[in-house]
Amino acid sequence: MINEDKNKKGFPGPPIEAEGHSPLGPGGLGFLAILGSGESGIGAALLAKQKGYKVFVSDSGSIKQDYKQELINGNIEFEEDGHTEEKILNAGEVVKSPGIPEKNEMVKKIRAKGIPVISEIEFAYRYKGDSKIVGITGSNGKSTTTSLIYHICKVAGLECALAGNIGYSFARQLAEDPKPLYVVEISSFQLDDIKEFKPDIAVLLNITEDHLDRYDYKFENYINSKFRIIENQDENDYFIYNLDDEVITKKLETLTIHTNPLPFSMKQEVKKGAYIKGDQMMLRIQEERVSMSIYDFALKGKHNQHNTMAAGIAASTLGIRKEKIREAVRTFESLEHRMEHVATVRGVEFINDSKATNVNSTWFALESLEKKAILILGGVDKGNDYTLIERLVKEKVRAIVCMGIDNEKIHVAFKDFGKTIVDTQSAPDAVIAAFNLAAKGDAVLLSPACSSFDLFKNYEDRGKKFKEAVKDL
Ligand code: ADP
Repeated sequence: MINEDKNKKGFPGPPIEAEGHSPLGPGGLGFLAILGSGESGIGAALLAKQKGYKVFVSDSGSIKQDYKQELINGNIEFEEDGHTEEKILNAGEVVKSPGIPEKNEMVKKIRAKGIPVISEIEFAYRYKGDSKIVGITGSNGKSTTTSLIYHICKVAGLECALAGNIGYSFARQLAEDPKPLYVVEISSFQLDDIKEFKPDIAVLLNITEDHLDRYDYKFENYINSKFRIIENQDENDYFIYNLDDEVITKKLETLTIHTNPLPFSMKQEVKKGAYIKGDQMMLRIQEERVSMSIYDFALKGKHNQHNTMAAGIAASTLGIRKEKIREAVRTFESLEHRMEHVATVRGVEFINDSKATNVNSTWFALESLEKKAILILGGVDKGNDYTLIERLVKEKVRAIVCMGIDNEKIHVAFKDFGKTIVDTQSAPDAVIAAFNLAAKGDAVLLSPACSSFDLFKNYEDRGKKFKEAVKDL
């Protein structure tokens, strides 16, 4: 199969006419190896197969049954529970799934052999044609903002798809249901292996220390990774960023950017972009002037004002009219596991913020809360610095319920605060303990600041078990 678009751009193309040419390495024509069989790996495999590549998916662990079936149906070769080196090292190019670190032995060998390694979004980007991309990254708020932008686009009647870290992978979306516009959630791991990828509209929400284990424990490396979202942008593109985030503004001082900056701020007025003055959000994009009361935002809390400003700018930049933006921002339903109201039981409100897997998210959760809280904290600590939430715990938290196998660090951090701290090791126990500690009018907030892997499959599982336990009260 000939892919004109790709060849025009000068990429080493997939099979061109006859076998025997070898534009893609010793493995022969268009041989693409894919490491990892999660949603992005499978998406890349489906797209690559469709575009005429010879594809081989390899996973060091097991492949989920549904995905395996897709590979079988697609006649795509795969292996699980290990990598066949000779085969992978014969590939012309490798798509590495975002979950696989550089220190992985197979990756090291691929790098040593000089085989180009790309991420799934980079691979998919080659086939996007004329469609446009809004790419959203940041340490926190990506899924919320991506979903909100998508919601505004839908309300405005645009034909578009939600993809990336949320929902289908970008590659699968392109393979199965291409659209003129993609709203894509992008992690730093996806950005690590881009070459040409660029969004037409990039959104950078914030940068706080996270995932440092993947960045040689250097914050600077993680910052650089996030900034790659604008690396290939030019004067026709837009860069929406948080002007209140010092990590971002400091980095920007050191860069020459080629794109159009559109900052948002809660602290200062901007000529172009968005800001909040009093209780009004002001959007200043091209001729469009939008103002809207923050009380009309469906998403509550300061962090969500940032997210809503970013989404509003993106929508305005896409040419969406203010009436539609206002309507969509008012009607957006917040996502599961993010400050999700579960139920009110005998005057105690239960809130599921299981997605809060770092201290920064918990800070925003507490900050947005207008009640006293029984805070459920704990899980797998990723090097948490609890001093960040000391003030808010003092002001707003009545008691702490630890839910984790090792709660030592939480006890040490808050032992002098004069608050009750109890230990639990399951969602039902945590919910019952929290309910017993709560007074009428309080909230029980699950915002654990930790990953969930000690007691749960993932944060969704944790949130679901929490909700079930609340329903059982
Ligand atoms: P991500 O996709 O980046 O992990 P989510 O939208 O899923 O982000 O939100 C994750 C957590 O971060 C939630 O607990 C939420 O309360 C918090 N959060 C959301 N937006 C922001 C923001 N702009 N700044 C800080 N924390 C945020």
